[in-house]
Amino acid sequence: MDAFAPPLFPFGLLAAGDPYPVGVERRSLSRIVLVCEHAGNAVPAGLALGVGEADLARHIGIDIGALGVARALSEALGAELIHQRYSRLVIDCNRPPSEPSAFPARTDGTDIPGNVAMTARDAAARTAEIFHPFWAAVASALDRRTEAGIAPVLVSIHSFTPVHGDYPEPRPWPVAVLFDKRPRFSLALAAALRQGGVEVGENVPYKVGALGDYTIPVHGEHRGIDHTLIELRQDLIADPAAQRAWAARLAAALPTALQTIDASERNAP
Ligand SMILES: [Zn+2]
Repeated sequence: MDAFAPPLFPFGLLAAGDPYPVGVERRSLSRIVLVCEHAGNAVPAGLALGVGEADLARHIGIDIGALGVARALSEALGAELIHQRYSRLVIDCNRPPSEPSAFPARTDGTDIPGNVAMTARDAAARTAEIFHPFWAAVASALDRRTEAGIAPVLVSIHSFTPVHGDYPEPRPWPVAVLFDKRPRFSLALAAALRQGGVEVGENVPYKVGALGDYTIPVHGEHRGIDHTLIELRQDLIADPAAQRAWAARLAAALPTALQTIDASERNAP
């Protein structure tokens, strides 16, 4: 007798030929769990987003270079990496799906016709078939560690464009750490990177908040685990060699940051 299994893609948005939304590499009990929410720029074959390949390939469609850095970092640290394959124009997995910005209708001066016209059912389909499988994989990875007595550290890898029409301020930083209510791992990482001669921004070019973010508020702060979100400037991670070089800098600094938070834990009253 077969057990009841709910359909994996109940809305029929994703079909045979569409990639599975979640990629998992080096599945393990590594203390650091790498996530890359804006890693890919796939669009379901059945979804008419109304944007061309060129827009999907630029920063409005994907975090350019982020997956390359995350993969090299995963290899260097032996850390599990969970990445998401659909364009953030389909659904931004670092936003609560209840927020309109999860399905941007206009971003950096470009209209996204398929999001202007979308219905509540469209939003539910993208949420059920892309957002939830991705976050279920991350939640299960974090839960497995907690159950094994390992204190996981969530590290989210992103990239930002040097110029962005929606944010007029200059963006000179090569790398930045983002945090809100639980800053200690981000600050320890920033300090370790600076010791290696790297200039590090803090909470630039974006700030973390419960409406504009999902990863840190939900799976960092609400879980009560250490975390950081790393933003790298896209022009500095444009090719594989540059991605490996930045991954090496991060791979050198992350263990130092772990030691710093462990020491602060031991010294706590
Ligand atoms: Zn991003």
